[in-house]
Amino acid sequence: MTDIALEMPWLSRAWQTIQSRVKEDRLPHALILAGERGVGKRVWAEAVGALLLCDRPVNGESGLPTACGQCKQCELLAASSHPDIRVYAPEKSRMVKVDQVRALSSFAVASPQVGHHKVAIIDRADQMNINAANALLKTLEEPLPDVTLILLQESGRPVLPTIRSRCQTLTVPVPTNSDANAWLAGRVRKLPEDARPSPEVLAKALMLAGNAPMLALDYATGEFIGLRDTALERFKEFMKSRIPVGEAAKAFKSMGLEDTLWLFETWAGDLARLIAGGTAQDADAEDMLGFLSRGTPAWRAHELLDMVKESRAAGVYNASPELEASRLLIAWQKLMPVKRPSA
Ligand SMILES: [Zn+2]
Repeated sequence: MTDIALEMPWLSRAWQTIQSRVKEDRLPHALILAGERGVGKRVWAEAVGALLLCDRPVNGESGLPTACGQCKQCELLAASSHPDIRVYAPEKSRMVKVDQVRALSSFAVASPQVGHHKVAIIDRADQMNINAANALLKTLEEPLPDVTLILLQESGRPVLPTIRSRCQTLTVPVPTNSDANAWLAGRVRKLPEDARPSPEVLAKALMLAGNAPMLALDYATGEFIGLRDTALERFKEFMKSRIPVGEAAKAFKSMGLEDTLWLFETWAGDLARLIAGGTAQDADAEDMLGFLSRGTPAWRAHELLDMVKESRAAGVYNASPELEASRLLIAWQKLMPVKRPSA
């Protein structure tokens, strides 16, 4: 038996909504789960999938149904070889492609292979181009009784209204710092001793991830923190005109576009918060951002946030992180109070 509410309590509200719907046999054909990056949306979707595929759901902690973990369906799922659940996620292009949506549509109309139900998950429904969205719309317009579609959406990244209006939307919050810490500590304990990040690294990862625990785990166990420390240092050097833009931008190269945009979004968001009298999420950038916030009107911080959104828009998904970083760095430098020679 798996009940995600025990392990990830911040998912429990959205999870129990689905459990109740299943119990009452009135689950919608299509769901959107929205939430910040790294809060566990995929875990939630897989738990919903398991519940829908399971032959003999049992009552979980809350008295609501959850997958039994023992039937044939659950065994196939545990072995990641259940043919009636599919996940469609962006590949190299960072977009969910129309071909993937067409594959989803064929999957939706076919009969279940071993079970009684099918589940299709689109992880990053906010990353669909217009062709992919239109193809999905056709499937949404002709719902089939034995298929459930689960679309995952990152907060602040819109899904087309035509799609949204055909789905029931649920949201998951970011956990509290103590819930996030508890989850992270549990995961870290399962790592081999020499692979466990230090408490300092864990705290920093949680800070940078804004308490999104799965993202923090990625940060703490991968290369991100080191790359980000270098990138922030170069960013500060560039702002003081000590290095040219090309050198500063190079620091973002191996980080990839998604993390590069994510960092610039965090910094622009922090700048907006500081201008409004709040505090920065990225404590390491607070000195520089605090300095900038004193001479900067709020609309300029929002302009920087908009630039990140533009970079994320469909057309530039093949762009290099280095190029996007250059563009953003130049916009940032215009906030510096002193006129400087152009780099
Ligand atoms: Zn089962």
